[in-house]
Amino acid sequence: MYHTILVPIDISTPELTQLVVPHVKAQVSLNDNARVHFLTVIPIFPYYASLGLAYSPEAPDNEMIRSEALSQLTEAIKPFNIPKSRMETHLATGSPKDRILGLAESIQADIIIVASHRPSMATYLLGSNAAAIVRYAKCPVLVIR
Ligand code: ADP
Repeated sequence: MYHTILVPIDISTPELTQLVVPHVKAQVSLNDNARVHFLTVIPIFPYYASLGLAYSPEAPDNEMIRSEALSQLTEAIKPFNIPKSRMETHLATGSPKDRILGLAESIQADIIIVASHRPSMATYLLGSNAAAIVRYAKCPVLVIR
């Protein structure tokens, strides 16, 4: 039975979120005290930044991106149907795998539940973020295929 459950959500791939829903619900139903932490990470692209594009007048400003990501996260987690008192949402920017692993440590996650990879990338067994989480997390990781 897990108390602190971390569920990283890639808002750009709703089909992955759908895969994970029944497994998260199953864990939550096992423990009345379970808390679910949803995290979405806005990737930053050092490559673009190095080209000076991060400062382009066309680039939407950071605050706009953050508030849009947060509202999409709120939408994406509705199917989990977790009572508000038993969940938290987190927004971070940077490298998804680093931020996911970092949050897992700071909340002392008991388990991380992730999907293995985008269905369109059928040749990979594990996406790059899922692979890093499996390799480096200090807690159990449930990978949904
Ligand atoms: P792929 O490269 O096929 O997209 P990933 O390893 O990136 O595979 O994704 C697997 C899982 O990692 C996702 O289901 C999600 O749980 C997590 N993940 C990936 N990107 C992010 C992100 N930007 N924010 C939060 N979680 C993410």
